[in-house]
Amino acid sequence: MRTFSHILATRPQVEPSIPFPGCPYPTDLNILDTESSSKFLNDKDIVSLRELHSDLRRICLRARERGVKLIIDAEYSWYQPAIDAMQLALMREFNKVVSDESMPAVQPLIYGTFQAYLRRTPLHLAQSYRDAQANNYKLGVKLIRGAYHPHEVLAHEAVRLHGQRSLSISPDELPPVWTTKSETDRYLRRSPTSTSLGISITGWFGRKDQLKRSDFPNIGVLFGTHNWSSVKLILNELVMNGLAATENPGNQEEEPTLRLDDEVTERVTLGQLYGMIDELTSYIIHRTHSNSPMVIKYVPYGTLSETIPYLSRRAIENKSVLGDGHASEERERAGREIKTRIFGQSYFPDDEDFEVRRSRSFSLTRTLTNF
Ligand SMILES: Cc1cc2nc3c(=O)[nH]c(=O)nc-3n(C[C@H](O)[C@H](O)[C@H](O)COP(=O)(O)OP(=O)(O)OC[C@H]3O[C@@H](n4cnc5c(N)ncnc54)[C@H](O)[C@@H]3O)c2cc1C
Repeated sequence: MRTFSHILATRPQVEPSIPFPGCPYPTDLNILDTESSSKFLNDKDIVSLRELHSDLRRICLRARERGVKLIIDAEYSWYQPAIDAMQLALMREFNKVVSDESMPAVQPLIYGTFQAYLRRTPLHLAQSYRDAQANNYKLGVKLIRGAYHPHEVLAHEAVRLHGQRSLSISPDELPPVWTTKSETDRYLRRSPTSTSLGISITGWFGRKDQLKRSDFPNIGVLFGTHNWSSVKLILNELVMNGLAATENPGNQEEEPTLRLDDEVTERVTLGQLYGMIDELTSYIIHRTHSNSPMVIKYVPYGTLSETIPYLSRRAIENKSVLGDGHASEERERAGREIKTRIFGQSYFPDDEDFEVRRSRSFSLTRTLTNF
């Protein structure tokens, strides 16, 4: 709480003003390097923040040594100012572009999360993109809907309308999130950034056949979604923009499979949470051919007491995916997969599709272990 009050109070005022929780500035963490004091933070807070920053740097250094990407999650809007500040500092340091033309154009090491439901997101993306271009680092974008919509609306209402105590600290009249999905879609499309930046693959990447190696925009994107239409839209956009080639376009019955080059899979990835809509993950694996996986699964790990709260929050929030009997379909699918792996094809003597499923599960395993 005190950190975000400090950050918000020390940020420069900009025009047009950016809806809550604003955008990060490189000066957000100045307090860590200077002797200056803050009316919001005491000495202990500053020491804790320094330790946090140094621990995060150690994690990033280790990840770089091991070739592992790091994705920083997004949270409730009232935690974002502090998360954004750390994220910006780490991307500026660890995503620096290597100017050696003989090196492969690789994806960023650090990805930050952008919640599409926040009113600030078009401006936040535009500012992040400009900052990355100006400071020669790769922008890592994980684009998702955002998981806390009802909480954001209720917390904001509690303060603004009812004067109650709440975690929400937004000073704005409107809640930080768009209230409906159609509003989100409309404003993201109409946003002033949509021509200069674009919430579309064209805007971010351009056409592959028209780009030189040195022209590649320094951006990597992970689209996290459980929505079939969103996934199909992303795959279609890749084709429309020359970033994926269709392999069997003659066959009217089936959707064409897509061939993706390394420079595309290095910079575009899809993701789902483990245990949610594995069928969609398999669909992506089946539809795409590439040297490295086009899709990742988030696998939570830790003790039962640590992971159960996370998993139950995800299950509640993903009712549209797990409701209407979909949860039991997922369970049956997982059961079938386990039996096939233990007993092999003989367990399903009539299953002509076994080879296809076996190779799919192989690539799914590869996906899980590679990212
Ligand atoms: C790999 C991965 C990583 C994730 N990481 C994070 C994270 O770091 N932080 C985080 O907050 N969440 C995270 N999420 C969760 C994510 O934000 C979504 O809550 C979840 O994925 C559901 O969105 P969808 O695109 O899958 O579903 P959708 O089908 O797009 O949406 C599900 C439901 O929400 C409704 N809806 C969508 N947008 C709006 C809106 N703006 N207003 C009102 N209703 C709306 C839709 O109508 C639909 O009924 C992650 C998800 C994935 C897959």
